[in-house]
Amino acid sequence: MADEKKVLTTAFGVPVGDDQNSITAGSRGPTLLQDVHVLEKLGHFDRERIPERVVHAKGAGAHGYFEVTGDVTMYTRAKFLSVVGKKTEVFVRFSTVGGEKGSADAERDPRGFAVKFYTEEGNYDLVGNNTPVFFIRDTIKFPDFIHTQKRNPATNLKDPDMFWDFLSLTPESIHQVTVLFSDRGIPATYRNMNGYSSHTYKWYNNKGEVFWVKYHLKTDQGIRNLTREEAEVTRAKDPDHATRDLYETIERGDYPSWTLEMQIMPYARAKEYRFDAFDITKVWPHSDFPPIKVGKLVLDRNPQNYFAEVEQSAFNPSNLVPGIGVSPDKMLQGRLFSYHDTHIHRLGPNYHLIPVNRPRNSPENSYQRDSFMRVDGNGGPGPNYWPNSLGGPAPDPQYVEPMFELEGMAGRQPYSYPNDDFIQPGNLYRNVMTDYDRNNLVGNIVTHLCGAQKRIQLRQTALFYKADAEYGTRVAQGLGLDVSEVARLAGMTQEERVKATAK
Ligand code: NDP
Repeated sequence: MADEKKVLTTAFGVPVGDDQNSITAGSRGPTLLQDVHVLEKLGHFDRERIPERVVHAKGAGAHGYFEVTGDVTMYTRAKFLSVVGKKTEVFVRFSTVGGEKGSADAERDPRGFAVKFYTEEGNYDLVGNNTPVFFIRDTIKFPDFIHTQKRNPATNLKDPDMFWDFLSLTPESIHQVTVLFSDRGIPATYRNMNGYSSHTYKWYNNKGEVFWVKYHLKTDQGIRNLTREEAEVTRAKDPDHATRDLYETIERGDYPSWTLEMQIMPYARAKEYRFDAFDITKVWPHSDFPPIKVGKLVLDRNPQNYFAEVEQSAFNPSNLVPGIGVSPDKMLQGRLFSYHDTHIHRLGPNYHLIPVNRPRNSPENSYQRDSFMRVDGNGGPGPNYWPNSLGGPAPDPQYVEPMFELEGMAGRQPYSYPNDDFIQPGNLYRNVMTDYDRNNLVGNIVTHLCGAQKRIQLRQTALFYKADAEYGTRVAQGLGLDVSEVARLAGMTQEERVKATAK
């Protein structure tokens, strides 16, 4: 085999004669600085780790393809969605959110579900989660929220006080908290969960007509979750169980797949819809916007090298292609900045040149130049500015996105959409969950919330009560709280409740 004949070299290709004995002064003497092979080896080793992602640090990924199965050309001009039967290469990364890179897969946490489509019009990243909603609706709260899910600054321990203090002071979180503490909060594997855009995005067609859309990637393997008892055993036995499952399943040729379904809302409908179409703490009930089948996502190839393909993969919600745009969702608006900014920090300004991130089916013809790790030809002798009269790449007006209207006063506006944060979690508890789901939900909450101070328990349980009186009552009973006190707190405004439960 050719591999057997390969000679070990330094990073710069110089053959190495001995890789087991450092150059020393005499057989028992100290190592000499002139052993440049050792210096190179240790120096590189010292720098092997790149900054861990602040969120979504633990992940697993795989390659595959997306195939169009439904005609959506009346809604979007995106070329990769233009013909039934068309296939586009993808790379997908699944992850947990709050834990460090070495944390266990079977934690109660949302799961990231990020898809990179290598389209002929550039890379399109759909950076979703396994939950259709989120904890907060404004990006300004995100760093604080994440701090509360991480470790206490003094003890370096996960802290139920921090966790529930923030959530109970942020009532818009109640919908996502209800999903997270249902058994869906710990999917059995990455294959047994759905992916959602969560955000509303914009699609526009060749005529310039605009639609608001939500993506649902429904697992073809069926939803399967772990109970908290099963998760406890799994964490202890195999902290990497979901990573292992994904790799081994693909390795034996049992390729996981998801069906892409879209909810599509006509542009004008968002103005008078009963729920705020751009609020990520809300779903669009299926009865209002029935999902339509659009395609199939299949994962059929494992990475060859975890660091190169998974750790260095960089997804960015602002990687959009013609036919797909953003909505005014305030969480999405923040992510448009934050992801690219993070990747520049972790991987450098030329992270788009790393093979897994490269627009492999569409050439990069930009005027961006130089900086660290510019490892391609850097545009060669071509012009590095626009406009130029030297035949450099030129913008094409056919790709200008349709305009959209804005109104109102610019400022820090308190949220004012006339709907309430408790309707949808209440519906989920009452109408969607079974008795089994409700029992587990209440048990999951009680075993976590019991670690917080009593005044925080009361404040949070009042929010469950506001979603549904039975829901709040059962959590209160599980915690040994006075149900009438919880009901009284639930009847207050949030401001009064915060005052009544202050330290
Ligand atoms: P539907 O009855 O049409 O939809 C309910 C959906 O809830 C199901 O399709 C399923 O979504 C999801 N679901 C089922 N069991 C659970 C569970 N144990 N935990 C969390 N989600 C579950 O009703 P609506 O569309 O009116 O929604 C009612 C509530 O269902 C919403 O308030 C929301 O909390 C929840 N939900 C709604 C979704 C939506 O997009 N409309 C998506 C997910 C949840 P799926 O098919 O995606 O698995």
